Amino acid sequence: MALHWKIIIGMVLGIIFGFIMNSIDGGRDFVTDWIKPFGTIFINLLKLIAVPLILASLIKGISDLKDISKIKTMGLRTLVIYVGTTLVAIIIGLSIVNIVKPGEGMSTDTIEKIKMKYESSAGVVDKLNKANNQKDAGPLQALVDIFPSNIFKALGDAKMLQVIFFALFVGICLLLIPEKKAAPLVKFFDSLNEVVMKMVDLIMLFAPYAVFALLANVIIAFDDTEILLKLLMYAVCVVSGLLLMIGFYLIFIKMYTKKSPLWFLSRISPAQLLAFSTSSSAATLPVTMERVEEHLGVDKEVSGFVLPVGATVNMDGTSLYQGIAAVFIMQVIWPEGLTFTNQLVIVVTALLASIGSAAVPSAGMVMLVIVLESIGFPSELLPIGLALIFAVDRPLDMCRTVVNVTGDATVSMVVAKSLGKLSAPKPKNWDDNYEAVK
Ligand code: ASP
Repeated sequence: MALHWKIIIGMVLGIIFGFIMNSIDGGRDFVTDWIKPFGTIFINLLKLIAVPLILASLIKGISDLKDISKIKTMGLRTLVIYVGTTLVAIIIGLSIVNIVKPGEGMSTDTIEKIKMKYESSAGVVDKLNKANNQKDAGPLQALVDIFPSNIFKALGDAKMLQVIFFALFVGICLLLIPEKKAAPLVKFFDSLNEVVMKMVDLIMLFAPYAVFALLANVIIAFDDTEILLKLLMYAVCVVSGLLLMIGFYLIFIKMYTKKSPLWFLSRISPAQLLAFSTSSSAATLPVTMERVEEHLGVDKEVSGFVLPVGATVNMDGTSLYQGIAAVFIMQVIWPEGLTFTNQLVIVVTALLASIGSAAVPSAGMVMLVIVLESIGFPSELLPIGLALIFAVDRPLDMCRTVVNVTGDATVSMVVAKSLGKLSAPKPKNWDDNYEAVK
């Protein structure tokens, strides 16, 4: 059975199991104590290999390019396409929310109920605090943060952009020194890359069970279906926007690389399913890299750069969500702020905010605070604003992470094609031949 079917079965069973446990006395505690840890172990393993994988594949990839000017072309193209797709996402989001107007007509009773329940909840307070810390930084802090002062700290803290910078630096210098001197280090990273890729294969054997645990744990967190139903229209807007965005990627791929959308989806789907289950592009990164390199045929030198950068700066799903969420909140509690100028400001700040969002669960909601503040949203209303969307944030986070990951994979294919680095996929064994492993 193909890996994605096994993962889907694990997810469905996890959801059913979660609902059953939700209705049994002590069921939630059972999931928290005995099921959730297996999901956590899986995410830990993926994070464990993310940093060595970026380091190895990028250093090896750059040293294979053999030409520094190609790095410049690749970098520039990647960034321009990333910004372009993010703008498309925000425009889709804003169009939907302005046409459907999901926030109009919400009764004061419902608003009051949501406010009471979530305004001072730990989740909302935590997001506001995080947003405050982020805001205190100077305008160029994000740029300064790319350059590490201590590589071991950068590796230890898994600072993606710092690791990417270091890997690029090493890769470029390997090109600048005599080939004979560079060879041992290139060989070392090549070998490390192979080992880590094999680790991805092995970890993925555990994926169907891990997604069972992750989804069962998501389901037990839902407690108030009444509030969920009240937010249904808002959630439908976000999900429809995300689906449109996936449609956009498929057209982009078909037009530019001539590959069939179904072929693309069947090959990338394990990464999408993991993005959905983990809500984290960073945790999904090793799997995205494996799928893109071995199953879509993108050369390492492109995927090694485009994907880690994308996981950190390209979040189309997040920016689409931020546009919809900001306008939805205004429709409900600050209709006077709904001006055309403010929506233009949202386009710019949602773009920047998605670049600045960390690739971890619910980071998009933290940055939403900054988007709202940029249009002068009254600060005393901020906790209520976040409370409004809090109940459905986790499922929407799962969906937007799928789009974030799909966007990165799409752009890596497009950039690879434009550089002549897209070839026939070369799937390696093990995850593809489960029988052989057994
Ligand atoms: N969870 C998202 C990601 O990792 C970020 C967000 O939108 O919260 O891509």
